[in-house]
Amino acid sequence: MKENFHPTYHTILVKCATCGTEFKVNSTKEELHIDVCSKCHPFYTGKMGANTKAGRIDKFNKRALQQKK
Ligand SMILES: [Zn+2]
Repeated sequence: MKENFHPTYHTILVKCATCGTEFKVNSTKEELHIDVCSKCHPFYTGKMGANTKAGRIDKFNKRALQQKK
């Protein structure tokens, strides 16, 4: 068996720059910084898209109500 043949995996703490969530991953890197994680990325949460849609609908409804008055 060759030593140091495989990269050394170790547990590192990754911090999400967007929501601050910290989680541990096994990586060959010393540290890792990410902008989005699975908890705050709109692709996974759907929150951002839903909020945007809801906001647009609210604005549309308010505008429609104001025009009726
Ligand atoms: Zn995050």
